[in-house]
Amino acid sequence: EHGLSDADPEVSSIISKEKERQFKSLELIASENFTSRAVMEAVGSCLTNKYSEGLPGKRYYGGNEYIDELEILCQKRALAAFHLDEKKWGVNVQPLSGSPANFEVYTAILNPHDRIMGLDLPHGGHLSHGFMTPKRRVSGTSIYFESMPYRLDESTGLVDYDMLETTATLFRPKLIIAGASAYPRDFDYPRMRKIADAVGAFLMMDMAHISGLVAASVVADPFEYCDIVTTTTHKSLRGPRGGMIFFKKDPIHGVDLESAINNAVFPGLQGGPHNHTIGGLAVCLKHAQSPEFKAYQNQVVSNCRALANRLVELGYTVVSGGSDNHLVLVDLRPLGVDGARVEKILDMASITLNKNSVPGDKSALVPGGIRIGSPAMTTRGFKEKEFVAIADFIHEGVQITIDAKGLVSGSSKLQEFLKFVASSEFPLIDKVS
Ligand code: PLP
Repeated sequence: EHGLSDADPEVSSIISKEKERQFKSLELIASENFTSRAVMEAVGSCLTNKYSEGLPGKRYYGGNEYIDELEILCQKRALAAFHLDEKKWGVNVQPLSGSPANFEVYTAILNPHDRIMGLDLPHGGHLSHGFMTPKRRVSGTSIYFESMPYRLDESTGLVDYDMLETTATLFRPKLIIAGASAYPRDFDYPRMRKIADAVGAFLMMDMAHISGLVAASVVADPFEYCDIVTTTTHKSLRGPRGGMIFFKKDPIHGVDLESAINNAVFPGLQGGPHNHTIGGLAVCLKHAQSPEFKAYQNQVVSNCRALANRLVELGYTVVSGGSDNHLVLVDLRPLGVDGARVEKILDMASITLNKNSVPGDKSALVPGGIRIGSPAMTTRGFKEKEFVAIADFIHEGVQITIDAKGLVSGSSKLQEFLKFVASSEFPLIDKVS
């Protein structure tokens, strides 16, 4: 048996370079995190070798006694991590990722061309919630279902629930989707429940971005009001790359969600589950029940607030005026600069974040803002002080982009800070030698 570096030096070297990049940069992409070594050990294990189509106790292949044990453990931990009563809620831990999980829900409870409403992508929603442009049905969701987005009130940066209510009354969707990829505030679940009930729609929350915060109870609980909750597992939850679907056990609108969703996952849209991911997820969900995890999520929110406050102090326009969660959306348009340029300049300085459209953008091709998230650097032990410093460096990058003076990587203060980053604790993944 050879190790990777002997067996395939090329791939091994690419991984080493990527590890070093992750280790040495300021990782501020709101959907990313550093998972634990224990999770990575499970993901890199022999569990990847096994086929186990079906559910525990009902498999299409032999030899699944340990896989059954693992999947049952993972399900139990998933329900416990989100404080759910096993009699009322069930979970499918097999979705390969967030987009497949969402599409599985749609095919489970909708017929082709049924109507759905999700937050518009340029206003913070996700592609898989039904994004389309006037010219093109971009996501599979909008090809196979009829999608009518709801949007933000551009003057407040908050979801325009009045508009959602009016549109839903006319459009009569069968499904309303809460949740976003770039929304710094909590959703008003009681209001959305009321709107869904008034039109006889299912209510689903895609908590992909905030699932870690939900598990730690540092944001509002979507399970109190929604029929179905989907999530990715690799963002604030800090697990391996994957997805989960939680569903109410009681029938909703005459639909047995448990069998409809389980059948949509397999055999509807997937084949064999990725058991190595389910192993990693089980590890992550054990950790998600610990006091350390709760402290971590509290710190994620405090750090994000410190970052938002400092940016406001520096004169930036922050969409919705601040943040209740793990991300800040900065509107750069008042400064006459776009998100793409700022992303590029900051990337050159090992500050990794992403350009993002902001409410009122004329074109999704030239996003007017940047999205900044706190989960990853909080995993690396950063506190409010470091996040204030991050805001200052982003400011420096924006100034340099505006003035076109040179590269922010020339900044000696930043170079010093990056040295500090490289020497700081990296408790969850191996140090780069
Ligand atoms: N849902 C939301 C809200 C997301 O932000 C994302 C990804 O960023 C997804 C779903 C899709 O997840 P995946 O990339 O795992 O398909």
